[in-house]
Amino acid sequence: MVVCGAGFAGVRVAKALEGKADVTLVAPADRFVYLPLIHEMLSEQQLPRDVTKPLRDIVPQATHIHEAAVAVEGNDLVTSGGHRIPFDQLVVAVGAEPNDFGIPGVRENTYSFYSVKDALLANAALKTAAVEIAGRPIRVVVVGASFTGVEVAGEAAELLRRLDFRYDIQLLDAADRIFPHQDDEFRQHVHDGLDRLGLRVRTDQRITRVEPGRVHVAGDEGEEAVEADVVFWCAGARPRRIEGVDMTVRPTLQSTSRDDVFVLGDAAEFPREWGVPKLAQTAEAQSPVVAHNLLKPNRMMEYEPEVKGLIVSVGHNYAVADIGGTVLKGQIPWHIKRRLYKTKIALY
Ligand SMILES: Cc1cc2nc3c(=O)[nH]c(=O)nc-3n(C[C@H](O)[C@H](O)[C@H](O)COP(=O)(O)OP(=O)(O)OC[C@H]3O[C@@H](n4cnc5c(N)ncnc54)[C@H](O)[C@@H]3O)c2cc1C
Repeated sequence: MVVCGAGFAGVRVAKALEGKADVTLVAPADRFVYLPLIHEMLSEQQLPRDVTKPLRDIVPQATHIHEAAVAVEGNDLVTSGGHRIPFDQLVVAVGAEPNDFGIPGVRENTYSFYSVKDALLANAALKTAAVEIAGRPIRVVVVGASFTGVEVAGEAAELLRRLDFRYDIQLLDAADRIFPHQDDEFRQHVHDGLDRLGLRVRTDQRITRVEPGRVHVAGDEGEEAVEADVVFWCAGARPRRIEGVDMTVRPTLQSTSRDDVFVLGDAAEFPREWGVPKLAQTAEAQSPVVAHNLLKPNRMMEYEPEVKGLIVSVGHNYAVADIGGTVLKGQIPWHIKRRLYKTKIALY
């Protein structure tokens, strides 16, 4: 069996198959990256070694190929190194990439958070802006005021505070309110956390273009150019593509186009009505379903979406959690999250 992608979904599937099937794991890097902590590299609260782990330590029995999967042709997986890897069953778990929605200038002029390299570049950009700008606050625009955007804005503020720079950080979001799927209590606690760090939120702001030093937005009051020394793009993600694979899935997590190809995690496209968020916990929950279905094709299970709880941190020592409908805020959920994630990395 061939598994491509070694994030939450791919690693969990490969681990579940150890000792039961021969697994070839295809991923560009030789380390597992714990993405839910990656934004903390912005404030240097986490270093690369804190958020990564060697893949060989996690899945020692698999054959490891450190190349990117590019395409599926017949029953071969074609890699970036030009290799053709034959498969009987294929797991596609290549994750997501930032969605620029085709907006001009986003790719060239913004920073995002989908790899260790992304986080290091974002940290360097913020520190460079801070040392080059004198006499006024550092202007940071974070596009997207959902989980990632709020967490990134909080870390940016913590870094600049620690280095003793003044800042003006704005979160811009196209929706009419932040966290529209959460209740008012959750939303208010997030606003409290943002206020505590002096972060501004502007909703109903549709980005039309990004150019060096400026984000163009269309809002209630017409077009506006928002000045920005650094722009972080946290406006959503879309599945990474592998040519020849239909990333939309059935309840068994098989690709809609092929029975022998499974797609899961952020790479999977689910029918909208399923309401499956792109989260590590959903990728993890899908993995045993895929492992079972690979091993028992005559008795396939179906994936049933479930979100156990949500925690968003807003800078350090403050988070807002919704655990089974109970909303918590402040230091306790922040410490719970930190402890939980650190334990989970260690257990991978
Ligand atoms: C800043 C941030 C904060 C987050 N916070 C949380 C949180 O608090 N809680 C939560 O549940 N979720 C959180 N998430 C979401 C969570 O990280 C993702 O949903 C999760 O990582 C998805 O797992 P995955 O295995 O599908 O993809 P990933 O973890 O992204 O793994 C994809 C893997 O595929 C590899 N790959 C990429 N391209 C190729 C290719 N062509 N061929 C082969 N391999 C390839 C990558 O190198 C990687 O190994 C956060 C995400 C971000 C960015």
